[in-house]
Amino acid sequence: MTGIVTDFKRFAVHDGDGIRTTVFLKGCPLRCLWCHNPESLVRQPQIAYLQERCISCGACAGECPNGAHDIGAKGHLFDRTHCTGCGACVSVCPARALRLYGREMTVEEVLAVVREDRIFYGTTGGMTLSGGEPMAQPEFTAALLAAAKAEGLNTALDTCGDVPKPLFEAIAADVDCFLYDIKHMDRERHRALTGRPNDRILDNYRYLVARGCRIEVRIPLVPGCNDDPTALNGIAAFLASAPPERVKLLPYHSYGQGKYEAMALTYGGRELVPPSAEQLLAAADRLRRFGLNVEVG
Ligand code: SF4
Ligand code: SF4
Repeated sequence: MTGIVTDFKRFAVHDGDGIRTTVFLKGCPLRCLWCHNPESLVRQPQIAYLQERCISCGACAGECPNGAHDIGAKGHLFDRTHCTGCGACVSVCPARALRLYGREMTVEEVLAVVREDRIFYGTTGGMTLSGGEPMAQPEFTAALLAAAKAEGLNTALDTCGDVPKPLFEAIAADVDCFLYDIKHMDRERHRALTGRPNDRILDNYRYLVARGCRIEVRIPLVPGCNDDPTALNGIAAFLASAPPERVKLLPYHSYGQGKYEAMALTYGGRELVPPSAEQLLAAADRLRRFGLNVEVG
């Protein structure tokens, strides 16, 4: 059983309870305008190329079996259409101008990384699966969660919720806490902002609440997208009808923009601006008026 892993984050303190190792899995059904993890959107391995670091040495061109790199009169040209994501060029680049996102790993290989910091997890920390959407690789995610639980690791799943319900039914018993994204209650507005309607997301949320799962709802606060009173009242009323343990309000930021450029992707959030401290606190206050336990992330 193997999956495609984008990255690990060790000593994570914002991805669930305690100190955790977050495993980022590749692939996601949504395309949120503000996404700061473009390296996690598709399941296939991808190369990021930082042109400003390149010294045009040609080492990558010598290593690539597909001729994706070329050093000519105009310097280094990288033709992504020839790249299969094998990663061979990354290890020979002396300037660290290339980075591979997406490595095939077994369940045991991932757990070996997670175990390295077990001493720091205490009674509350553990492993968090994030993405992308971990359940875009459902068999691997299920196997990883089951194996982690079998050896007594605390597990959290950071999910966009937009997957078939049977996938949640299959893994729910192996998840100690869900980190569950809610972005907008209006179906068509949700589709415009994320590329998908919200029906399954809301339905799966209700299912997990009814099942008695521990849930931290995460709301990305994105000015101009979901920070108006109508949008916030709608989310708050929905959550008040089936309250999670806590709600975390996450302010939009544009830190991921450089990754889009390095991967030759278009960033859809160029016009977006982060919320001010006042906007963030006002949004938190509005949610609290519905009796929700709100933290600002
Ligand atoms: S990842 Fe592999 S195929 Fe892609 S450019 Fe590098 S060496 Fe070539
Ligand atoms: S190996 Fe690195 S520094 Fe050399 S040409 Fe390729 S990307 Fe540029």
